[in-house]
Amino acid sequence: MAPVAGAGKGRFTGRRRRWKRESEGTVGKATLTTQIIVAMLAGAVVGIAINVIWPDSAFVRDIVVDGLFGTIGAIFVSGLKMLVVPLVLVSLVSGVTTLGDVAALGRIGAKALVFYLGTTAIAITIALVLAAVVSPGSAIELQSDAAGFEASEAPPLSQVITDLVPSNPVAAMADGNMLQIIVFAILFGVAVTLAGERGQHVKNLFEDLNAVVMHLVGIVMIIAPIGVFCLIARTFADQGLDVILPLAKYFFTVLAALAAHAFGTYGLLLSVVGRLNPLRFFSKMRAAAVFAFSTASSNATIPVTLKTAEERLGVDNGVASFTVPLGATINMDGTAIMQGVATVFIANAYGVDLGVGEFLTVILTATLASVGTAGVPGVGLIMLAMVLRQVGLPVEGIALIIGVDRLLDMTRTAVNITGDATVTTIIAQSEKAFDRETFDNPEAGVIEAGKA
Ligand code: ASP
Repeated sequence: MAPVAGAGKGRFTGRRRRWKRESEGTVGKATLTTQIIVAMLAGAVVGIAINVIWPDSAFVRDIVVDGLFGTIGAIFVSGLKMLVVPLVLVSLVSGVTTLGDVAALGRIGAKALVFYLGTTAIAITIALVLAAVVSPGSAIELQSDAAGFEASEAPPLSQVITDLVPSNPVAAMADGNMLQIIVFAILFGVAVTLAGERGQHVKNLFEDLNAVVMHLVGIVMIIAPIGVFCLIARTFADQGLDVILPLAKYFFTVLAALAAHAFGTYGLLLSVVGRLNPLRFFSKMRAAAVFAFSTASSNATIPVTLKTAEERLGVDNGVASFTVPLGATINMDGTAIMQGVATVFIANAYGVDLGVGEFLTVILTATLASVGTAGVPGVGLIMLAMVLRQVGLPVEGIALIIGVDRLLDMTRTAVNITGDATVTTIIAQSEKAFDRETFDNPEAGVIEAGKA
């Protein structure tokens, strides 16, 4: 295969490996995006109806909600998780070999770190300012029987760094340790490139495997509308909306901060730094956001975020295969927002005044806590325990907000992956690893419902 064009010029202009669908043929037919959005809304309506109409029916609970919705939803999430490790490994090795330029890799990694940490710091600042203005929790009466919450210690920085290198790559894959898989895949990809002629077969093999795994993603996505319906219906049947009422101020402050960050910060970044139409971006991110919302897991959503970045947004595999899984692990803006508002809420509830020093500590701890913590459901609360401990607030305060956390977890996960895709798009553009035509074409990468 021809050497990477422009690699020596320090710019990535490698061959695109898009897996773009023909837009013709989707006209007049339901697209997958439309279907999963309808499924999400239908799931919410059915779930709320069950919660209101049959709150105490054992039959509905055991057979319909836990049995039917629970089983199908679990199968769908397992299907997504099944794709994550093979996809990240194959896609990243393939991306690195196509990149063929270690310096470009370092540059992309450095940009990703700066953007990921920077946007998280902005996110939590928005959250703290909004929470300071709205002041949620000041009218709360603490329940004396508030259940305790186990705080785990933040691992020391030296261990986080040491843990980046897998002593056993197979174990790293078995455990789904994303950072270790990323490090192994990058080193492997670099070695394939260094092997020159001898590495060529391996390079081709991984390129082909990448195309195959992408079709595997397509297969799992066929059941997405049903999976999304079941996950959402079950959550709403379990939760109902009345859990929100006692915590309405906290809940809506988090939602407002999430919306401000998603549409404000990302919108500005895209239009000012990337010179791209943010509305088009958000419209193309809808399906991935619904996946994140229904699974509450950035990790499980990696296949969809990656597919969206490459096929809908026009980002080259060389950038997306690196920055998307990295972002799913280290970039959690939505989670940081919840932590900022929750800290102010708990401080108010306990009548503790937070000063500027504490605010800065919250920003720093929440930003660092998100690094190295996998994007899985509910992990934000565990990280919150570290933040609270750092500013000397009672960790048991978490019990106050746990009731609404599932709904917020779903929403903040959608913001987390939108942040990953925003940074990915901006970096790709700066690296000239971006196809503007694909981005501008509303039909690019659209999947017809029922097709893999
Ligand atoms: N569920 C979130 C994610 O996967 C993390 C969290 O906030 O708990 O991104």
